[in-house]
Amino acid sequence: MRRLASAALLAILPVALLFSQATNSDSAHPVSTAGKVQQIAGLPPAAQQAMSAVDAQRIRAHVRFLASDLLEGRGTGQRGGDIAAEYMATQFALYGLKPAGDNGTYMQKVPLEGIATQDDSTVTLVPNSGAPLDLTYRKDFVMTDESGSARTEVNADLVWIGYGIDAPEFNWDDYKDVDVKGKVLLMLVNEPPSDDPNFFAGKALTYYGRWTYKYEEAARKGAAGVILIHKTSMASYGWDVVRNSWSGEHSFLRDSKTQKLNMAGWIQFEVARKLAQACGMNLDEMIDAAGKRGFKAMPLPVQVKATMVSKVRRFESSNVLAVLPGSDAKLKDQAVFYSAHYDHLGIVPGMAGDNIYNGAQDNATGCGILLEIARAYAATRQAPKRSVYFAAVTAEEQGLLGSEYLGKHPPVSAQDISLALNYDDVPPLGVPEELNVAGAERTSFYPAVERMASSFNLTIVPDAQPNAGHYYRSDHFSFARVGVPSFSIDEGDLYKGHNRDWGAEQSEEYVAKHYHQPSDEYHPEMDFRGDAVMARFGIALGWEAANQSTLVGWKAGDEFEKARTASGSQ
Ligand SMILES: [Zn+2]
Repeated sequence: MRRLASAALLAILPVALLFSQATNSDSAHPVSTAGKVQQIAGLPPAAQQAMSAVDAQRIRAHVRFLASDLLEGRGTGQRGGDIAAEYMATQFALYGLKPAGDNGTYMQKVPLEGIATQDDSTVTLVPNSGAPLDLTYRKDFVMTDESGSARTEVNADLVWIGYGIDAPEFNWDDYKDVDVKGKVLLMLVNEPPSDDPNFFAGKALTYYGRWTYKYEEAARKGAAGVILIHKTSMASYGWDVVRNSWSGEHSFLRDSKTQKLNMAGWIQFEVARKLAQACGMNLDEMIDAAGKRGFKAMPLPVQVKATMVSKVRRFESSNVLAVLPGSDAKLKDQAVFYSAHYDHLGIVPGMAGDNIYNGAQDNATGCGILLEIARAYAATRQAPKRSVYFAAVTAEEQGLLGSEYLGKHPPVSAQDISLALNYDDVPPLGVPEELNVAGAERTSFYPAVERMASSFNLTIVPDAQPNAGHYYRSDHFSFARVGVPSFSIDEGDLYKGHNRDWGAEQSEEYVAKHYHQPSDEYHPEMDFRGDAVMARFGIALGWEAANQSTLVGWKAGDEFEKARTASGSQ
């Protein structure tokens, strides 16, 4: 009778509560919850076992190592980045997972070209009347010559092109009726402001708002360069972030055949304001007009004179790939993916003060989670039906390049990948009560996500900043681009024992003081229990997707549905 009663009690307890009891202190020794695991509807005992194997202390150990100064910030193409890759591969091997990279190894070589803009690069904006504006590298502008030349002289007209968007589905074309061939284009990040969900998705950002799109589109149209105007409120990050991300080496996939810009970069808002004044215009009015129907791009009475001096090197970095083969003879040819980027911004030789971008939260946390998920799967007695791949990808900070390469060269064809789950920058702040899975609602898998979330006692929160375009800013996007339903798993702002303001404050402080800065370092007081919850939650989702009868798809009309259909017809 007592046994029955406790079994009945277990059946109604949310699974998160069980886990939080089992691991109520992150500083406790690894705990075994064997025998205490409650059945989540639809998941086999092996999945339950894998979830309970996840240990916050092991995630801590990975983060501590990967974020140590010895790893030198895990720069792409730097020694520290390569050591991090070897570390990930070694862990996969120790778990007994099979290699899924090139030629029977864990490494998938990613051919890259690293371009570092040199300090003697100059940009001068010369108005027809008035004094030229001599810009100072890093203080006023950051710029990359994507062509891979050591030295390029640019002498071109400047064209004001507003948001630089050509979006037929929204009947919007900033490129209409203006000659941009060989010109430098002055433009805004983001997209025309809107509350209408049918016009650039309302307040949310579509891919058209991302700087990556702006460069790609301008290059397709034959422009020589793009100068983006940086405004913190529009970019959703400050000038420090832009400067730190751009002024080191910037990498490109060497196998991409796309056209490249001679100048691709940003200027400070105040520089743009002065420039507008020199043209007899008002920048605020220009920005306002650019967001309205009827906006017309126009040549500005300004010449751009630039000398781009670059140090160029060709090198290879690696994605680290491992697989747990599926247990079903037929379905094992299909797959579920887990990913996290292991790279960060590296070390900047000669920079004063602390010059190591340790990247503890971004993204040693995701790597620790990925490794714990991999270990838990590897230890299972009964693998799920579909194969499960683990991908530690490179060059995310350089523009999602490792995952882009993986998406274009997947070890199983994209149409056979049911779902891809990514982890990027998961705050070590304790036990979460909220879940951020932005993009999951675009997929046919969302009902399962909602069901699991409630089993874990996690409330799904909408993206706090839909206008920041987070969906296009991490590696899951590289899967989506080739049609694979994918999203990242993260915490919301609400943590056990705190109110939401506390979580929001932590998040704001991190963005303001540590994000993409050398101070994103490991601290012993970090609490990885939430990272462990996110790992368990990911196992529940991945297992479900790996076992269910059909492949996950996109909801009808989603912007990635076309890519899914295309991948199936190849
Ligand atoms: Zn990241």
